[in-house]
Amino acid sequence: MRIVLVGPPGAGKGTQAVRLAEKLAIPHISTGDLFRANISQQTELGKLAKSYMDAGNLVPDEVTIAMAKDRMEQPDAEGGFLLDGFPRNVSQAEALDELLVTEGIKVDAVLDLEVPEEEVVKRIAGRRLCRNEPSHVFHVTYSPPKKEGVCDICGGELYQRDDDSEETVRKRLEVYHTQTEPIIDYYKTQGLVVTISSLGPVDEITQRALEALKREKAEQ
Ligand code: ADP
Ligand code: AMP
Repeated sequence: MRIVLVGPPGAGKGTQAVRLAEKLAIPHISTGDLFRANISQQTELGKLAKSYMDAGNLVPDEVTIAMAKDRMEQPDAEGGFLLDGFPRNVSQAEALDELLVTEGIKVDAVLDLEVPEEEVVKRIAGRRLCRNEPSHVFHVTYSPPKKEGVCDICGGELYQRDDDSEETVRKRLEVYHTQTEPIIDYYKTQGLVVTISSLGPVDEITQRALEALKREKAEQ
């Protein structure tokens, strides 16, 4: 299956993507993670992306689409993928459609994670990421690591993202509403959107998502 995950920053896309990718045996492709890997490796792309990310803006389409295309063309993504954070505006969604059409494939479902804004703000404020890759995600109160500042899974150091400051989060939410939300309507016209609540225990949301995707597949 080729799935697009949508939802505001902090909705739980990364958290759910890891679980869904494992259950569905498809790779999790996060453009945010790809940019952060470029930043930590100090590549030219990383240097360019950082200035946009730190301001809460989108990285320009041209470089983002090229990076996503390159990742989707890796052999492990041949049978499907779960996109997290891409596409993030209508031009990217159109570019993705064009890219898939040339291969004779298409997006199968768009999973829209709904969360009230006040919850998103709390989730982002407490988010901690592991410096290792793949980067495991924790929350200081909702899913705290056993030992403060240390990843339970690989022992890596936990850190707070530069763009998770209150001011940048406000900007990212505005960018989400103005630029990313319109892709939900874009995909609705293709009959691909399934919306679920992203409130409650993580495992329950994964179950909700799997059932919603199963229903969507059966209807097609
Ligand atoms: P996104 O990828 O959409 O930006 P994340 O998956 O990184 O969001 O989640 C944001 C924060 O919220 C993380 O700290 C994560 O641990 C926490 N979180 C994710 N899902 C839930 C949930 N269902 N309940 C409480 N906290 C959650
Ligand atoms: P995320 O990890 O998905 O929260 O993304 C972090 C930041 O990376 C965003 O605020 C953007 O600056 C940048 N980014 C990630 N994905 C994209 C995308 N598809 N288009 C443009 N910028 C992106």
